[in-house]
Amino acid sequence: TDVSTGSQVTFTDVGGQSTAKNELMEAMDFVNDRDKVEHLGIRPLKGILLSGPPGTGKTLLAKAAATYTDSVFIATSGSEFVEMYAGVGAKRVRQLFRQAREKAMQQKKNSAILFIDEIEVLGVKRGSHASHMEYDQTLNQLLVEMDGLTSSSDFQLLVIGATNRVDMIDPALLRPGRFDRVVQVGMPDKAGRLQILELHTRNKPLADDVQLDIIARE
Ligand code: ADP
Repeated sequence: TDVSTGSQVTFTDVGGQSTAKNELMEAMDFVNDRDKVEHLGIRPLKGILLSGPPGTGKTLLAKAAATYTDSVFIATSGSEFVEMYAGVGAKRVRQLFRQAREKAMQQKKNSAILFIDEIEVLGVKRGSHASHMEYDQTLNQLLVEMDGLTSSSDFQLLVIGATNRVDMIDPALLRPGRFDRVVQVGMPDKAGRLQILELHTRNKPLADDVQLDIIARE
């Protein structure tokens, strides 16, 4: 939920980032117009990667995408898989996909967004980890789950990954039918910073001499 209002996050809660917002909304229209996508013979969207520095609104964007598509939202982080014993990471991946499906059914929604923050921890190039066997199993399971995703009118699951290190991601993850869309979420420019300040101060009293414009510039 949005910190300032306590309600569901929408794209209007994201300041700046207009390019990322537009690209993401355009991709989400594929989730919303599933019949059309099928009619046109377009392969359904399975994964989107949000790429950019921490704290720039990637999680916020993923939540807004869930609201926009009326999907259930499940969040996890690549680092959650770090300390797992052999086989546990892969099992956890299976669980998350199942959970997303179950939660959607419970809430009578026909789509789910599985958000994986710091996905590079999990999706690191295979063989490049000290404890590589475990990471490879976890990554392999993620690929298996994504490859097995089918879209139907009653349920679609979309995985949104966030990372600041696309260069570290195993190329297998970026292939068509996996995370084949990368949306850049960069540092906000001055206009973006002003928007963010306005969003976060909209329900707070400010001293008369506060000029958000100057703060945004600084
Ligand atoms: P990331 O996932 O990129 O690390 P988050 O979405 O978790 O960043 O952002 C952390 C917090 O900072 C958000 O919950 C929000 O309060 C604020 N924030 C960051 N970027 C924006 C933005 N573009 N618009 C509005 N608030 C933002």
